[in-house]
Amino acid sequence: QLKAKVKDLEAGRKTYPEVGFLTYKDRKRILITGGAGFVGSHLADKLMMQGHEVSVVDNFFTGRKRNVEHWIGHPNFELIHHDIVKPLFIEVDQIYHLASPASPPNYMYNPIKTIKTNTIGTINMLGLAKRVRARLLLASTSEVYGDPEVHPQTEDYWGHVNPIGPRACYDEGKRVAETMCFAYKKQEQVEVRVARIFNTFGPRMHMNDGRVVSNFILQALQNQPITIYGEGKQTRSFQYVTDLVDGLVALMNSNYSLPVNIGNPDEHHIEEFATTIKALVKSQSEIVHKPAMQDDPQKRKPDISRAKKYLNWQPKVNMMDGINKTVEYFREELERSSHQGR
Ligand code: NAD
Ligand code: UDP
Ligand code: UDP
Repeated sequence: QLKAKVKDLEAGRKTYPEVGFLTYKDRKRILITGGAGFVGSHLADKLMMQGHEVSVVDNFFTGRKRNVEHWIGHPNFELIHHDIVKPLFIEVDQIYHLASPASPPNYMYNPIKTIKTNTIGTINMLGLAKRVRARLLLASTSEVYGDPEVHPQTEDYWGHVNPIGPRACYDEGKRVAETMCFAYKKQEQVEVRVARIFNTFGPRMHMNDGRVVSNFILQALQNQPITIYGEGKQTRSFQYVTDLVDGLVALMNSNYSLPVNIGNPDEHHIEEFATTIKALVKSQSEIVHKPAMQDDPQKRKPDISRAKKYLNWQPKVNMMDGINKTVEYFREELERSSHQGR
């Protein structure tokens, strides 16, 4: 195998990661919206390795060609530069609908665009699913629960969201996207799957997207102050990206059509998380407090009984192993950007 690779390199041919072989009956044409982003690119890897035909649609708002470049040119792969707020005509069997800004600074940067992507963009993908009779999985979010009064959050909890607050463009956008899925299911018999994704981290997450995992790792690696917003008593539960991808694929291929939480119930105080990252990176950073974010959910932890029962899924990667891999990725990214003089 190695010899073949060297031969290819010498001949100037590109080599691709090994993909599986599927018979015509099992091979699906799969669309991933937002597939050049953090989660979408890991999902593309998994589906490509399984041997499916994968089309990635992305407007590169936060996604990067680099996340999927190892597939460019592969006969099973297609990268389409397109904004899903505009209609899209393509023939597919399954749609993983992930396109949306995802980190608070990104979605607050242009709230109107966030709303358009989650509403008009979702209608377009449901219209596409209806026309070609494809199954659509929506990447929804734990943010539909807002600042929750139920802990841990079960799927039958309706949530506690401020409809005019700074997070509303995203939270309400995803809530109405869920509503749209169930309206298309009821009225047009579109097959839908809804994943309520909890905080996820791993390689390829954007270094500067302002989320807590990326901020703390970056700050620790650069010996800069680690910034806790508010007192740090708020909690989050962190899931490694490969666990999420396994959950999404299991949900898509299941017979279960109600929303399912996909997350890791391992819950941490943000304050404790800062200390953990600092120790792990062996950083000299001091830990500082900044003003609390408006409408910041005070606690978050998924109840994953539904995923266990209907998908036979639960997370496998423990947080420290995942954090170690992510720290390595960020180290390399920092080196790469210092070489490029950025
Ligand atoms: P990401 O920003 O890395 O990926 C989103 C992708 O969507 C990007 O590649 C972006 O360029 C693309 N995109 C945005 N608007 C678009 C548009 N109008 N047309 C086409 N492409 C567009 O974020 P991510 O963390 O990979 O999130 C993926 C999905 O999962 C999102 O829908 C997000 O809401 C959801 N989610 C993520 C998390 C998490 O912790 N990462 C948690 C809950 C939900
Ligand atoms: N749509 C799309 N691709 C398709 C089919 C539909 O982007 O292959 C869009 C279409 O432009 C419309 C939306 O999806 O704006 C909703 O489609 P639907 O058929 O539900 O509504 P209609 O076209 O009847 O308004
Ligand atoms: N947070 C923090 N410092 C940071 C970034 C985030 O203390 O530099 C906190 C934030 O206030 C929130 C939690 O970490 O309570 C998770 O924030 P993130 O933006 O990652 O995701 P959210 O779950 O809020 O969407």
